[in-house]
Parts: sequence; C-alpha cells; structure tokens
Amino acid sequence: MRGNKDWVEDAACRDADPDALFVEGAEQNRAKALCAGCAVRTECLAYALDHRIEHGIWGGMTERERRALLRRRPTVTSWRRLLETARTEQDDRAEALPGDGSRRAAAG
Ligand code: SF4
Repeated sequence: MRGNKDWVEDAACRDADPDALFVEGAEQNRAKALCAGCAVRTECLAYALDHRIEHGIWGGMTERERRALLRRRPTVTSWRRLLETARTEQDDRAEALPGDGSRRAAAG
C-alpha cells in the first residue's frame, strides 16, 4: 500500500466535483458507487480511518459506517497496516486456488 496520499493520483473521484462526496441521505449511495470501481479504495478508506475523518464518503464508506467500524475495532492503531495485511492475505489465497492455468502459463 502506498504511503501518504500519493494514491490520490489514481482516485476515481480525482476529476469529480468534490461536493459529490459530501452528500447526505440517498445521494450517498450514488457517491459510494463511484468508489466501487476505484483502484485506490483501500488506501482511501485506510487514510480516512487512520485520520479519523468525520465527513464525506471515503473508500466507499459513509461517515456513519466508518464511525461504526471504529467503534467495533477500538484497538486498531493502524488501519493502513491492517487493510494492507488483509489485502496481501486475500491475494495469497487467490493465488493458492486452482485456476484455469492462465497464471501458470503467464509464469512460464
Ligand atoms: S474510494 Fe471513493 S472517495 Fe476514495 S479515492 Fe476512490 S473514488 Fe475517491
């Protein structure tokens, strides 16, 4: 996972209206849809959680959802490290699954 905020360069919302991510009610679902296809969703969410950002949609989560997550996991000191580890483990599991051979073919 990339440090600081260099991930912002790859954000799907980079050219969007900034106000589009600071909406209320049903409009939040539209804002979250933008995040669904974002390549840096994990970095974005980790940043918001680690910095206790209270407003707006970050990483596909509303402020209410982030607050609930923070309450459920009060001992997490680095969301960035936690999410990075989870992603690495998920990638490792995916590589261990029997595939269609495309990975083996790509590896030579
Ligand atoms: S996850 Fe959403 S808010 Fe975060 S950078 Fe991507 S599009 Fe923007």
